[in-house]
Amino acid sequence: MRFADLCETFERLEATPKRLEMRSILVDLIRPLRPPDLGRVLYLAQGLLRPEYEGVELGMADSLARRAVATATHTDDSVVAKRTKESGDLGTTTGELLAGVRRLDETTPLRVAEVYSELSRIAEAKGTGSQETKVQILSELLVRASALEGKFLVRFVLGTLRVGVREMTILDALAEAFGDGTKETRRQIEAAFNLCSDLELVAGVLVEKGVEGLTSVSLEVGRPMRAMLAEREKDLAAVLKRMDGRAAFEYKYDGLRVQAHIPKSGPVRLFSRRLEEISAQFPELVEELPRTVRSVPAILEGECVPIDPDTDEIQPFQQVSRRRGRKHDLERVRDEVPVCLFVFDVFLLGGAPVFGRPFPERRALLEKALTPTERVRLAVQRVVTKEEDAQSFFDEAIAAGGEGIVAKSLAEGSAYRAGARGFWWIKYKREYSAGLSDSIDGVVVGGFQGRGRRAGRFGAFLLAVYNPKLDRFESFCKVGSGFDDAQLAEMPKRLHRYEVDERPPEVVTGLTPDRWIRPAVVLEVRGAELTLSPVHRAGLGAIRAGAGLALRFPRFTGRFRDDRSATEATATSELLAMYRSQVRQETPEPTPDAD
Ligand code: AMP
Repeated sequence: MRFADLCETFERLEATPKRLEMRSILVDLIRPLRPPDLGRVLYLAQGLLRPEYEGVELGMADSLARRAVATATHTDDSVVAKRTKESGDLGTTTGELLAGVRRLDETTPLRVAEVYSELSRIAEAKGTGSQETKVQILSELLVRASALEGKFLVRFVLGTLRVGVREMTILDALAEAFGDGTKETRRQIEAAFNLCSDLELVAGVLVEKGVEGLTSVSLEVGRPMRAMLAEREKDLAAVLKRMDGRAAFEYKYDGLRVQAHIPKSGPVRLFSRRLEEISAQFPELVEELPRTVRSVPAILEGECVPIDPDTDEIQPFQQVSRRRGRKHDLERVRDEVPVCLFVFDVFLLGGAPVFGRPFPERRALLEKALTPTERVRLAVQRVVTKEEDAQSFFDEAIAAGGEGIVAKSLAEGSAYRAGARGFWWIKYKREYSAGLSDSIDGVVVGGFQGRGRRAGRFGAFLLAVYNPKLDRFESFCKVGSGFDDAQLAEMPKRLHRYEVDERPPEVVTGLTPDRWIRPAVVLEVRGAELTLSPVHRAGLGAIRAGAGLALRFPRFTGRFRDDRSATEATATSELLAMYRSQVRQETPEPTPDAD
């Protein structure tokens, strides 16, 4: 496939905010494709080179890309910088500059395969001299690029592609392009994807073996499976009732969710909830896991929490977050903040997939296979049938440092459901029943200029929840409280690369922030209650026509949810469940969103 054709499609995708139209453009794009181009195009359209869990990054700083543009267009670096400042985007500037120069070698147009392999070389360049190599590869591509191709190449290496194609839209398009487009086909495609987290693999199987072939996609060590998610209930009685009077209650540990892949030989690999590899942050777990699990290869899931080595007590989560991303003084932090993995599920044991078995069987297998140690233990569990036992187990969990309980279904149908949220798991956290003290993980979708002490920088942020059904982000509050100076100063750095001029198509809100931000950064907030709002769009119309849900008196808790991707933020359905379970909601008044 010619790269120019792909860029023209990118241009059309960028221009439409409508998901249906996006899908039909995508269908036309991928239908004629076959592997390996098909996989490459699916990744490129998402701004990626490989599945997200592989963590392949292009690692090209603005200054490097600018140098490549300057070389390729025979322009002075300072001129490129100045024009970029004016246009606000180096991609746009590249397009303009390229439009003004004669292209070399017009007879050999760039092809997707070649561009993909050159971009991969940029990603692979490491160590001394790698910066020069990156600049050289990019400028050699740019010399041969049209204005349009140049614009997208540069945005791609900077990680600022605004095409807006998301996984869910791609799954829709795959079902239509290579299946019959029905809901059932879409479901089967998503199920295969949830198992392997690899779109290229799913698309390849679909093209070569059809929808029936998808059953051959299986769980494999080294390829993370998508996490199962919990629903909520308003109190413990409701939890038990929903579980038909009998459930396995477990402590809800407040830490980092970890998927541990233990091969027969070779190193253990750990993945976070958003499927990023985090092995380097927990060397002691990597070391210890092979000693604790008897039948390998195995894949386990658990929550990693900091433990006080003197008292063996669970510590606040913030401690463990200190270890993330700190490669240099990891040794020191490792001794200072020891962690423990509380294992609560098993997907693969002795090389055989077991995630499809009912939960009681999985737990029994886990108990047999695991020899608990100081660092790796089983999640505390008790089968509960009476409300008073549920209450006392809950109190015990809180006293032991947990944040509540997760009740798990013991029914025949309690298989592990990758990527699904449902009532097979119900979480119930501390103080949840007394007003709205449960926290919400909101995605930043906009920034508002500050005033007074905050003049000249962001003073507040527009937050959204994720609606997986419509694959969009729906605003629910504008938050400015709870940030200390350091956190406020950090926000522009976190948001910079996601800032865009126009509302991203996947964001819906009745407010207009000073800057739009593509959904990526997740913050934990708390508030007084959920109310109906004429300007916010979370769960629009679900409670009352024309009204969305808004969080009153929102406050940042100080916790950046770096362990969550945008689509793993609190879901619209969760917010609606929270609204419905609020104590006082008889006469809902729309709030004029004054804050
Ligand atoms: P939440 O983070 O509020 O959506 O609650 C679900 C999370 O609880 C999961 O993603 C896990 O990280 C965490 N968790 C802690 N303990 C358990 C447990 N025993 N079983 C399942 N999930 C748990």
